[in-house]
Amino acid sequence: MKNDFEWHRCVRLFAKANEEGLRLDKHPTDPTAALVRSKQHPGTIYVVSAERCTCPAGGFCKHRALFAFEWPGMLLQVVDPATLPGVEPVEEITA
Ligand SMILES: [Zn+2]
Repeated sequence: MKNDFEWHRCVRLFAKANEEGLRLDKHPTDPTAALVRSKQHPGTIYVVSAERCTCPAGGFCKHRALFAFEWPGMLLQVVDPATLPGVEPVEEITA
């Protein structure tokens, strides 16, 4: 999970997820995963967790960015705060 996590990319993808109004819902049986309803494909629900997402994008997608930011405690798990550059996330979102 840490291998393909890139802070700047994650911030951009998270901004995109918010623009699209994507929301996480609790997974009915897996506490380490969440459900996201696709905006592009109504009726489609992706299962997203720290390690993977079932959407067609593959790799680190906006759903995983959303998960990383919004799932309680997840950001601290995917990012070692000591490795963060001195970036202002707000500036990254508007860039
Ligand atoms: Zn995805």
